Amino acid sequence: MGKVNVLVVGGAGYIGSHMVKELIEAGFDVTTLDNLSTGHRQSVTGGTFVHGDLSDQKLLDKIFSDKPVDAVMHFAAYSLVGDSVKNPIAYYRYNFNGTLSLVEAMLRNGIRRFIFSSTAAVYGEPETVPIPETHPCAPDNPYGAGKLAVERLISDCDSAYGLKYMSLRYFNAAGADASGQIGERHERETHLIPLVLQTALGRRPQIDIFGTDYGTPDGTCLRDYVHVTDLASAHLLALSSLMEGSESNIYNLGNSKGYSVREVIDLCREITGEPIPEREVERRAGDPAILVADSGKVRRELGWQPRYENLENIVESAWRWHQHQP
Ligand code: UDP
Repeated sequence: MGKVNVLVVGGAGYIGSHMVKELIEAGFDVTTLDNLSTGHRQSVTGGTFVHGDLSDQKLLDKIFSDKPVDAVMHFAAYSLVGDSVKNPIAYYRYNFNGTLSLVEAMLRNGIRRFIFSSTAAVYGEPETVPIPETHPCAPDNPYGAGKLAVERLISDCDSAYGLKYMSLRYFNAAGADASGQIGERHERETHLIPLVLQTALGRRPQIDIFGTDYGTPDGTCLRDYVHVTDLASAHLLALSSLMEGSESNIYNLGNSKGYSVREVIDLCREITGEPIPEREVERRAGDPAILVADSGKVRRELGWQPRYENLENIVESAWRWHQHQP
């Protein structure tokens, strides 16, 4: 058998580019499709690059007929909770319609293995913490609702057409590849850890804390931060499982430990040695108080073992990356 050929949609983005690097290192044949709306061409460190959009059916047909694709990994999405509350149409169009278009083209071309970037935002405010995959889904924002709609879509496509998928519900992706070659690079940054580190570098006057009156020990939101390289390794396991003929499944990807916004800022102060001024502001719309994974299922069933389980390692890798960004 030749090399396994994977199409990575959104492979120029933050998580996608780490995935492409891991796939290439693991010996896969990789094609990246990205429209570069938020990704960067330089972040794609190998394989074949195709510049284009996942809604372009002709282009997808061409990619799928150029060489046989064994599986598709789909990272391309708008991913900002706060933005999705303000622009739901854009979010549903890109995240739901875009995936519908991709899946339609896959099925038309006989491709039935799909790995989907889902999110902890499908759960909404949790009733129990840590959150297992069986927890009810009641998303608080259009971003989570759109991702949940895709999960339903691919489940229906499994029943109707035999699409086999793995839906991976990421908690908070953070950190950067150990090589220092790629990291989190958003033109308009909104994520906590990069913003705190940019403040440490003096590129921002202060970090805003969105809400200090949540029902959490210090009043700020709790999140479960997971290293981007660990996310990529979980995808490799999910891919092997699909290649071996497993049934479709849904897995949480997190470290099962929550850190508050204040704890993250304090740890960044320790690691960078910088004072990092802060300012308390209003809550951000769409933010649940607590999102912490029960990730026992993926550990048991796929043997996932994160390498960067503690937040210190995650922040250190991000700090190495941010210090070298212009
Ligand atoms: N957050 C914050 N200030 C910021 C950015 C984020 O207080 O400038 C908080 C946000 O309200 C959430 C947590 O940090 O509770 C993580 O937010 P992020 O945007 O990094 O990820 P999300 O949880 O939205 O996926």
